[in-house]
Amino acid sequence: MPGDSRQKVCVLGGGGFLGSHLVTSLCDSGKFRVQAIDTTFDKLTVSAPQLTITPADITSAGVLEEAVENNQVIVSTTALCNPSLYNTRPVEVIRESYDHLVPLVELCTRRNRWLVHFSTCEVYGQPLPGSSRQPLREDESRLLLGPINRERWSYACAKQLLERLIWAQGRHHGLPFTIVRPFNVIGPRMDFIPGRDGEGLPRVLACFMKALLAGEPLPLVNGGNQRRSFIYVDDFVAGVRAILLRPARCQGEIINLGHPGNDISIADLAGKMLAVFGALQPGRPLPGVIRVSAEDFYGPGYDDCDYRIPDIGKAERLIGFRPRTGLDEMLPVIVRDYLERYGTATPTGEVSR
Ligand code: UDP
Repeated sequence: MPGDSRQKVCVLGGGGFLGSHLVTSLCDSGKFRVQAIDTTFDKLTVSAPQLTITPADITSAGVLEEAVENNQVIVSTTALCNPSLYNTRPVEVIRESYDHLVPLVELCTRRNRWLVHFSTCEVYGQPLPGSSRQPLREDESRLLLGPINRERWSYACAKQLLERLIWAQGRHHGLPFTIVRPFNVIGPRMDFIPGRDGEGLPRVLACFMKALLAGEPLPLVNGGNQRRSFIYVDDFVAGVRAILLRPARCQGEIINLGHPGNDISIADLAGKMLAVFGALQPGRPLPGVIRVSAEDFYGPGYDDCDYRIPDIGKAERLIGFRPRTGLDEMLPVIVRDYLERYGTATPTGEVSR
């Protein structure tokens, strides 16, 4: 469109869980022209004149150069974001979270492009010993990772180093950047169901869905007393969209996007999901829960954090961020979506929809 003044945004990882929701939301808003780059696009169903889909690997020659050349903003979402990989494939985790993105940081610095980078709440690591449940703050909280033999922290460490590189390029060489720290985003199309469209262990929501669909007990790692604050994916992408519309306020900032009101133990999450599943599938016997040790579930080198609550005061101040969706509202939507997408596996392995 000649004279089109809409911002040109490229989403690296635009076919992934967060990327596909973000691309859809940016297209729906009508305020952006969007390029989505990824190796697969099974999760992205939107098609719109303002959307260009580019199947490509960001490590292939020329892909990042072209993306930076053709867009004003680069949103980078690519990573192996899955705790079961941090201690089983840590070299790939570190490469994808750090090495593969260093060239992007350099290119955006050189071409003066706004880099909106998805980091992670994992960078906060474990709570300080003896501290009470303090919400985590972007510019004040200490980042406390475990020892090197606890490979769980390979992801957090690589993501933290990239944050430090981005920050340094911003402060000393003029890179316009925003670092987003997502806190346990959940929603439809998250991860995969093992044995159906992926192998291995996904994150907790998809692990529980896999168990529910198969009629197996939901595994509670070390009993499930650990807590997380879950944010619905629509609230999360609304926050990212608001950031993209406010460059002057958000550049040079690190911003938590999470929902402190949805802080819950993993055992209680399992209870809620069982109840929702039971209500949607009346008559099916409910499988219950089973306690598993972290060592048996994830293998050696895993570690955990007891709780992780975002302070979202900064996001509220900068972009008016106010996540609205509670767990009781989002879980039925999510469980129903998984049921529609995957059907329910009967004990004989047949699938009924
Ligand atoms: N977890 C669990 N059962 C599962 C999968 C995960 O109890 O089937 C626990 C896991 O040990 C962690 C929490 O749920 O304490 C959240 O795990 P997830 O993989 O979603 O991501 P994290 O928040 O640890 O990055």
